[in-house]
Amino acid sequence: MTAATDAEFAGLTALITGGGAGIGAATIRALQARGAATAALDLDPSDAPEGAIRIQVDVTDTAAVQAAVDRAAEELGGIDIVINNAGIGAQGQVETNDDAEWHRVLDVNVVSVARVTSAALPHLRRSEAAVVVNTASIASMLGLPDRVLYGASKGAVQAMTLAMAADWVAKGIRVNAVVPGTANTPWIGRLMEKAEDPAAERAALNARQPHGRLVEPEEVAEAHCYLASPRNRSTTGVLLPIDGGMTTL
Ligand code: NAD
Repeated sequence: MTAATDAEFAGLTALITGGGAGIGAATIRALQARGAATAALDLDPSDAPEGAIRIQVDVTDTAAVQAAVDRAAEELGGIDIVINNAGIGAQGQVETNDDAEWHRVLDVNVVSVARVTSAALPHLRRSEAAVVVNTASIASMLGLPDRVLYGASKGAVQAMTLAMAADWVAKGIRVNAVVPGTANTPWIGRLMEKAEDPAAERAALNARQPHGRLVEPEEVAEAHCYLASPRNRSTTGVLLPIDGGMTTL
């Protein structure tokens, strides 16, 4: 075993969807710090970390995804790592979420994982360190009120992660997922702003976490790096909660 070094990902290339903000941007910074070349695919990649190739794309548009993935591969010189991280939230219950909402959220959160990974597959097949890491959520592991659609979408991401890992283990392509708890990203910031008293709402949210605070995006990024690392080639089909203990309760 060699010791971990800062250049753990030297010579490797990574494509990160939702790399323009929050967890995706933190993951790009963490991969870059360990030597990876990165491409951020996002509806708005303008705030993606410096040094990442910024590619504007909607992950629900199949033709645009194929073009974006191929462009990333060309500019990076291949794709070794795919981080399927773009996602949107949804509130409501079965009687309030209509068909259009179900289709929209499942398209962004679930079908895009298949869409982006399929587009990247020819490039992954050429890599000796091929790995896909998906961003799931503890929302599928707890009975959270008003999260039936979001929870279902992230449960599907977990199921896909296990099935894809089984399908490709003999082909040398690993597939894992991080399962974050409530994380301190722009997404949660937007939710807090909608509250009558954002500071009180944030304090209440922190108090609901077993370790008394939100998960930092950098902590999720560390898990993405662990699951993607070429040092961990026996790690596949892993669903890794980064939730301050929320799923132990
Ligand atoms: P965020 O809203 O802060 O950032 C998400 C990024 O994804 C944005 O840059 C956005 O432009 C991009 N995006 C959204 N829809 C897209 C589309 N159709 N095509 C391309 N890009 C798109 O969110 P975040 O909190 O960093 O969440 C990232 C992932 O982590 C999501 O999959 C989310 O479900 C998951 N997650 C978040 C939390 C949390 O509490 N923040 C908890 C568990 C899981």
